Amino acid sequence: MNVKIAKNSGFCFGVKRAIKIALEAAKGNHEIVTLGPIIHNPQMVKKLEDEGIKNVDDVSAINGRPTIIRSHGVKRETLLQLKKDGVEIINATCPYVSKTQEYAQELSEEGYKIIILGDKNHPEVQALKSYIKEEVVIVTNANGIDNKNYQRVGVISQTTRNVKDLQEVVQALVPRCHEIRVINTICNATTIRQESTLKLAKESDLMIVVGGKNSSNTKMLAKISENFVKTYHIEIECEIEEKWFKDKENIGLTAGASTPDWVIVGVYNKIIKCMGDINSKIERIKDIPEFEEER
Ligand code: SF4
Repeated sequence: MNVKIAKNSGFCFGVKRAIKIALEAAKGNHEIVTLGPIIHNPQMVKKLEDEGIKNVDDVSAINGRPTIIRSHGVKRETLLQLKKDGVEIINATCPYVSKTQEYAQELSEEGYKIIILGDKNHPEVQALKSYIKEEVVIVTNANGIDNKNYQRVGVISQTTRNVKDLQEVVQALVPRCHEIRVINTICNATTIRQESTLKLAKESDLMIVVGGKNSSNTKMLAKISENFVKTYHIEIECEIEEKWFKDKENIGLTAGASTPDWVIVGVYNKIIKCMGDINSKIERIKDIPEFEEER
């Protein structure tokens, strides 16, 4: 039996930063809210609620309380509204997400037709769209590129997409455009996790992907993995079934950028238990074979 974890699994820089900002803000405030879940992980959102940080889904539910802006950011008009209402804003937007918004605004102001690689329903993409003056085209892959010809196109991506998809989108655009400006806004944390998951999937008999079912980057890890090997995407250890491991030798474990350490540790312990090892239970993520923390 061999259970390994993909390098850099778990919290990325932006998520660690957002949680730290939220917890620090909560120390000085009795009433504090996040506008939308601070990260896409229900277990972490619940834990923060226990610390007094409530999640509200709409500006109308803020009721004057200090408000944390989640790691994915919010729409430009929402921020303006909060400022107008005099709400204390605690901005935990990941700097890479903010940078993508700046690029979108600049390209739009320079007259480029903007094409976004991303999920049109994801809050990050909705926020990004709000920084662009004209109508935008949002595609999830190259198949979404229509037959229109464009003079000047600016291509940007949701931070958690896949480089290969971005390359294919650009390739599909080349015959239809006079000028294309591509800004690779897929963040490094995303790319590293995808590469290490791909490597581990190739050498495993089974992969377990851990993270929010609503987490874009976790879903992408599952998609990459299932191209090579049987893959289960779970949120918590109790979803694991012992029968999955029958006749399996090499098990790979990976986790999205918003999956907390304690959830990953619980999943690892459940896997080894299912495989008949009751002596190797661990307490810390760094005790999982091959674990390497993001630098
Ligand atoms: S995945 Fe990248 S962009 Fe998203 S929060 Fe983490 S570091 Fe920031």
